[in-house]
Amino acid sequence: MNWWTKALRSLITSDTSEKLDLFKTFPGFRRFLATRHHYAILRTAGDILFLVVLISGFFGPNDATRNVAVFLTWGLLWPAIVLSWFFVGRMWCGICPFPGLGVFLQRKGLSFSLKIPSFLQKYGVYSSVFLLAVIIWIEVVANFDHSPLGTSYLVLTIILGSAGFAIVYNGQAWCRHLCPLGRISGAAATLAITEFRANHDRCRNCKTFACQRGGEGKRGCPVYLGAYSVRNNLHCLVCGHCLTTCDRDSPQFLLRNPYSELITNKGRYITCSYIVPFLIGSQLARFLRHKEAYVVVLDLVGGSDAAAFSLLLVFSFGLVLAGIRFGNFLLGIDTDPIVGRLSPMVPILIPMAFVGELVYRMWFFAGGIGEFIPTLGRQMHLPWMESLAFSIPDSPVQILSAFFMLNGAVAAGYILWRFCMEDFDGLVKLSHFIALNCLISVFLLAYLAVIF
Ligand code: SF4
Ligand code: SF4
Ligand code: SF4
Repeated sequence: MNWWTKALRSLITSDTSEKLDLFKTFPGFRRFLATRHHYAILRTAGDILFLVVLISGFFGPNDATRNVAVFLTWGLLWPAIVLSWFFVGRMWCGICPFPGLGVFLQRKGLSFSLKIPSFLQKYGVYSSVFLLAVIIWIEVVANFDHSPLGTSYLVLTIILGSAGFAIVYNGQAWCRHLCPLGRISGAAATLAITEFRANHDRCRNCKTFACQRGGEGKRGCPVYLGAYSVRNNLHCLVCGHCLTTCDRDSPQFLLRNPYSELITNKGRYITCSYIVPFLIGSQLARFLRHKEAYVVVLDLVGGSDAAAFSLLLVFSFGLVLAGIRFGNFLLGIDTDPIVGRLSPMVPILIPMAFVGELVYRMWFFAGGIGEFIPTLGRQMHLPWMESLAFSIPDSPVQILSAFFMLNGAVAAGYILWRFCMEDFDGLVKLSHFIALNCLISVFLLAYLAVIF
C-alpha cells in the first residue's frame, strides 16, 4: 500500500491501530526534529520576529496604519498559529519564543528550581482560562489588535510571566500550567490530525525514563511529561526534546482521525469544558460587535463600548453554556463510573469552536493583508509602497467562512453519530438524536447570522 493510501486510511478510520507513523514514513522529518540545531534556527527566527514586534511597538508610532507590529502579531502570527493547530497540534510551542528568556536564565543557573506546588497543578487550568478571557476582552475593548504599544505590552507581559516562573520553578511551569495561549492551543490540539506518542512496546522495561528526566547532560521534558506519559494532545509541546533523550527510538508522530481523541475523551477534559463555551460565546460577541445591531446594545448601556461588549460576552457565554447543558441533557450521559464527570456536548462542539476562531482570525488577516506593505512603507518612509495597497472584498471571505463553519457543523454531527453508534449505543432516543442535530444547526445558524 502506498504511503498516501495509508495516510488517507489513518485520517478516516476509527481503528487506532491504523495510524501512520510519519517518523517512519519520512525519516528526514524525524531527523529534522531531532536535530536541535534546526529547532534553534526556527526559534531564532521566532525571536527575531518578536524582537521586531517589541521594538516597533515600543519605539515606533502608536498608530496601526503606520506600524507593522499590529498586523505582524494579530494578522499573520496569530492566524498562522490557529491554522497550525489543525495539522500539528501544539507544535508552535516547540518554537515559541516566549519561554526563551526563562530557559536562558535557568541555563545560567539563575533559578530556584522549586518543585511545582500542588495549588498550581490544581488551579492552573482555571487561572489560564481566566487569563485567556482577559486577553480576548482586552484585545477587543482596549483595541489591542489595533494598538502597537498595547500589542508590545501584551507580548512583553507573557515573556516576563514565563521568565518569572522559570526563575522560581524548574522546567517550563508557565507553559504547563498557566500560559493562556498554551491552554487554548492544547484544547485545539485535541482535534489535530497528528499526535505525538510513545510506542509503549518499546518502552517496556525501560529503566531510564530519559524522555521525562533527561540524561547525559540533556534536559528532560520541559513540561514534566516525557513521551511515555503523553496520553492526549493537551500538554505535550511537540518540542522533539525526547527524540534525543530516548535511546529506544520510541517516540512516534502519528497521523490519525482528527476526531478520535474527542470521541475517546467524551468531554472529560476540564480545559475544554471552560474554553469551548467561552470561545464560541466570545466569537459570536466579537463578530456581533462589527454589526449594525451592536448599536442597540450600545444604547442599552449608555454608549460605553466596554460595557456593551462585556454584556454581549456574558450573554453569549451564558447562552452557549445553556446550549451545552441542554445537549448533555439530551444525550443523557454526564458521568462515567471510572473517570467521573463527562460533558459529551463539549467535544461535539470543539470543531465549531476552533473553526470559528480560525474564521475570526481569517477576517482579520483578509482585512489587513492589503494594507501591510503600505503600512511598512509609511513606517520606513517609503511612500512608493502606497501603490501596492489592495483590498479583499467581503463576499469571498464570507463564503469561505460559511464553508468552514459548515465543515465544523458536519464534524460535530459526525462525532455525535459516532457517540450514538459506539459508546452511547442504545442510550440516546431517536427524538433526542434529532433534537441534538437541530441544536448543532442552531449553532451553525448563529455563526452564519453573525458572519453575513
Ligand atoms: S505554552 Fe505559551 S509560552 Fe509556552 S511555548 Fe506554548 S505558547 Fe509559548
Ligand atoms: S520513550 Fe524512551 S526513554 Fe521514555 S520510557 Fe519509552 S523507551 Fe524509555
Ligand atoms: S513529551 Fe517530548 S515532545 Fe512532548 S513536551 Fe515533553 S519533551 Fe517535548
